[in-house]
Amino acid sequence: MNKYFQLLVKNVKKQLETWLNEKEVIQHKEVYRFLHSIAGTASTIGFTVAGDMARKLMGQLNLDEEREWKKEDLQSFLLPLISIIYYEEYSNIDEIIERKSEYEDKKLILLIDDDTALLMYLKEKLEENDWIVIAVADPDRAINSYYDLNPSCVIIDIHMKDKNGLDVLLQLKEKMKQQFIPTIMISNDQSKELRIKSYKLGTDDFIHKPIDIEEFVVRINRQLERKQAIDNVMLIDELTRVYNRKFLPQTYDRFVSSLNRRRQPFCMALLDLDHFKNVNDTYGHIVGDEVLATFADTVRKGLRINDIIIRYGGEEFIILLPETKTREAKLVLERILKEFSNIPFEANDEEFYCSFSSGIHEVQSNETDLKKNIEIADAALYEAKQAGRNQIKVAAVHNLEIKKKPIHVGIVDDDPIIRTMLEDLISKSKIMDDFTVDIQTFKDGMEFIEADWHLKNNEQFLIILDGMMPRMDGLEVLQKLRALPYQERFTVMMLTSRKSEHDITRALKLGADDYITKPFKLLELETRLGHLIKRMK
Ligand code: GH3
Ligand code: MG
Ligand code: MG
Repeated sequence: MNKYFQLLVKNVKKQLETWLNEKEVIQHKEVYRFLHSIAGTASTIGFTVAGDMARKLMGQLNLDEEREWKKEDLQSFLLPLISIIYYEEYSNIDEIIERKSEYEDKKLILLIDDDTALLMYLKEKLEENDWIVIAVADPDRAINSYYDLNPSCVIIDIHMKDKNGLDVLLQLKEKMKQQFIPTIMISNDQSKELRIKSYKLGTDDFIHKPIDIEEFVVRINRQLERKQAIDNVMLIDELTRVYNRKFLPQTYDRFVSSLNRRRQPFCMALLDLDHFKNVNDTYGHIVGDEVLATFADTVRKGLRINDIIIRYGGEEFIILLPETKTREAKLVLERILKEFSNIPFEANDEEFYCSFSSGIHEVQSNETDLKKNIEIADAALYEAKQAGRNQIKVAAVHNLEIKKKPIHVGIVDDDPIIRTMLEDLISKSKIMDDFTVDIQTFKDGMEFIEADWHLKNNEQFLIILDGMMPRMDGLEVLQKLRALPYQERFTVMMLTSRKSEHDITRALKLGADDYITKPFKLLELETRLGHLIKRMK
């Protein structure tokens, strides 16, 4: 949901900036329209508090009034809504996790504090040090997302409205037990009792407010260095510099928790060097070690930023690829295999080449455990070895590839958030599993008709049509589609506004296959689309 949320916040910010920085007075109708649009969109993307607040504020306005707003008045009128939106932004961990890949190798600091002003200030100051600071206003969400965030240091405010920071510390310590994630408490209260209590509960440092940034940075840095040193000793394999097998269970748990939450499968691949014993026997162990190190390095460089490589045993490695389907994982590994098998090694004045074999298993649910999943991947690896090595095999369970039918999905809506949201929903939805899907979005009916995209082939089309659009509206588009000689290849879902019963009746008469009223729940839309699609198979 996060992406839409981000879009919504961005739109709100942009609108507020325009109003509050550039304009002297703001037209009443603009304010009304602004609230109306937030009320609809926020509820649809599940951001109910903001939707409700927008509706409440609308209730205080009279649409037909001819009023001009002064900036200051508008600002104080909208304040309850603005603070909801901004608070949510700081609590929106999903969005942060989604963007984690942008952070690359930077150290991530998790800062838990419900004082948004301080959060903003500390985030800005600390990020001057090339760290990523995730400022979270909602402690429960921070605790729940801890696996996905995987922070290098956690800073917790002791005094929060709904929660005692020491409780947060305790809960986190329980989760991070084996990982030595340093924690720093911050507090207004400098009493010795509180400090002692915090240290006893396991915090690594204690800092009181007002915070001296310079000292704060140094103290955070000490913790980060310590954490790095521990990581190096504990979890990194000496020879290959990738994670060792101790890292596997916790990483696997993290992948499963993300799988549960987002229902996106991940891939597990087992890699094993081919005839590696020969390398050792022919050129000696030292050379063998070099090959191993080069191999690990090549794989690491070929993987994407969120993929994980673990040295599982001697010359066996496990790769975990988040939110990845078999086909994609296979492409990644094939590229790496090609690259690795072209690397010339030198020993005893001769050149030689190495290769590896791999078995891929797509983990789709939490029903099979780690051990079982490794077995499945291992069976595929064995097949690859049997088939002559230097190749990649997919676990048999996934080999039953059904011949997929093509389907073209057209999303026609003037609201960019709805467009993005639907595109995302459809591209990831299970209901599309039996199809190869082509998705196109259009800003309005005119753009859709003029693109002629729907005339380009004689395959099946699912069209999601907004009823109300500038330029050509949904009903008109529907009419045009149904006037075509091969109109039955178009299945149409209308998005209508709640009030317009008349439009719904017309849409159905004109041949819409189903309709849903805005604001709608994504899950409901997905279910209804699922029904429509079943009929298309
Ligand atoms: P296959 O293609 O069937 O996998 O053949 P293989 O020779 O690679 O298979 P096998 O599992 O019999 O041999 C693995 C060898 O890898 C045996 C072991 O001595 C070697 N090995 C394991 N760890 C290391 C290491 O850290 N350094 C070196 N140089 N060799 C290692
Ligand atoms: Mg082996
Ligand atoms: Mg081997």
